[in-house]
Parts: sequence; structure tokens; C-alpha cells
Amino acid sequence: MRLKNKVALITGGGSGIGKASCLLFAKEGARVVVVDISEESAAMVVEQIKSAGGDALFLKADVSKAEDCLEMIRAAEEAYGQLNIIFNNAGIMDSNDDTAETTDEDTWDRTMQINVKGVWLGCKYAIPALRRAGGGSIVNTASFVARLGAATAQIAYTTSKGAVLAFTRELAVIHARENIRVNALCPGPLKTELLMKFLDTEAKKNRRLIHIPMGRFGEAVEIAKAALFLASDDSSFMTGSELLVDGGITAAYVTPE
Ligand code: NAD
Repeated sequence: MRLKNKVALITGGGSGIGKASCLLFAKEGARVVVVDISEESAAMVVEQIKSAGGDALFLKADVSKAEDCLEMIRAAEEAYGQLNIIFNNAGIMDSNDDTAETTDEDTWDRTMQINVKGVWLGCKYAIPALRRAGGGSIVNTASFVARLGAATAQIAYTTSKGAVLAFTRELAVIHARENIRVNALCPGPLKTELLMKFLDTEAKKNRRLIHIPMGRFGEAVEIAKAALFLASDDSSFMTGSELLVDGGITAAYVTPE
């Protein structure tokens, strides 16, 4: 068990990558704090973990709100006595997100509030707790779009994920001597609700698929396995890195037929 005796908090734990990670981390021995804005889905994840013999609790929080983030860390420490891992994974992709000219201000602001401010607030309140635990691991979900431009425009989302990479890098350097590691995870296009809602026609899906050398969308659990690696001591000499798990999309100039 790679996370035995560890306490892990995962935001956006009710669905997609977050859900797959909660289930996997619990299977690997972690006590898991499942954080989501959606009470119903996260409560179901906790049930699933408990019925498999694991230990988890659910906390409703909006990661874009400071008081919610402060409270989720406090509650995690209160329940389990420590915090060793935070996976800042909650994020949105707004269907109104488009080009620089057409994206409205509300969409831009909402995207930044959740995808960037949410990651910062998670770290802001988790770092003192990780320090109290003698160190720990922070994993922040960015995206392959932080590394590549896409003609299927989503300018606010792409900008927000670029910010997550820059933020992660600097945080890693600042806290490296405190035994707090900070890494970013860059998933490629996945078969999750978030992306399938955005790529809502076969034409849009195929437009994305032709760029993926592997010729398929990834599964949430394939990202959860990478998150587990970054969260666990298996990655003990890694900090400030950007782990791409993307079916080869960022390596390709031309993809095979
Ligand atoms: P998802 O929509 O399946 O899950 C996201 C979860 O976050 C949901 O349960 C949602 O309720 C929760 N959430 C949304 N806003 C929140 C808030 N303000 N506070 C707390 N929880 C909130 O999405 P996913 O595909 O699993 O994506 C997870 C992360 O991975 C996101 O950061 C996303 O940008 C990133 N990502 C996804 C893909 C993809 O193809 N799906 C690719 C690259 C990166």
C-alpha cells in the first residue's frame, strides 16, 4: 500500500479524475477527504470507499472561497489528526469559453476564480498543515493545453492552466527545503463529463482525436494513477515538475493515420 498512514484531501472528488483518485488513494491505504461543491456525488464516492473497507469523509466546499478552503483543511486535520497530501484538482471548462474576442467577462472571471484562485487557496491553507505533519505532497491539476495552443478556442481555460504551471513551479522552489513537494499533473483529453460536455458533437470529438497519437481519449483512472505517483513517496525526488499524461498529444507534429 503506497499511501498507508497518509491523509489525502482531493478537491473535485465527486467526479472524473477526482473520483478515480479518491477511490485509488483509499485502496492504497490513505484516509481520504473528498471535497466537492456537489454534495451528492461526493457523498456517493465516500460510500463507495467505505463499502470497500476504506476510510473517507466528505466535505462540501467551493474552492474559490477562502473560508471554505480554510474550513476543509481544518476539518481534515480535526478528523484525521494530520494532512499529508492535497490534490488541487477541482476545475471547470465553461461552454461559453471561446476566443479572446468572444469570451465574456463573467466566464473569464469564473474560470480564474475556480481554476487558479482555487488552487492557490488550497495551497495557502494546506501548507501550514503539511508543515505540521513534517512535510507532504501537493499535486495541482493543470492540462496539456497549458503547453499547446488549440484551435478549438477556450482562452480562459488555457490561460488558467498556464497559471497553474507557473504557480506550481514557484511554490515548489519556495518550499523545497521544508520537505513539501509541489508538482503539476497535465492530463490529455479524457473521456470525462467535463470534456465530453465541451466537445458536444462528433465533429468536435473527432477534431480533437486526430491529434492524439494513441487515437483515443484517456480514462480518468489513468490520470489517477499518475496522481498517486506524485502524491506518494515513489516520486520523492520530484518537485516543480509537469507530468504529462496525454496519449502522446504534446509529442506529436503529425499523428499516424
Ligand atoms: P469533472 O467535471 O468530471 O469533475 C470536476 C469536479 O470538480 C466536479 O465534481 C465538480 O462538482 C467539482 N467542482 C467544480 N467546481 C468546483 C468548486 N468551485 N469547488 C469544488 N469543487 C468543484 O472534471 P474532470 O475531467 O475530472 O477534471 C478535473 C480536473 O482535470 C480539472 O481541473 C480539469 O480542468 C482537469 N483536466 C481535465 C481534462 C479532461 O479531458 N477531462 C483534461 C485536462 C485537465
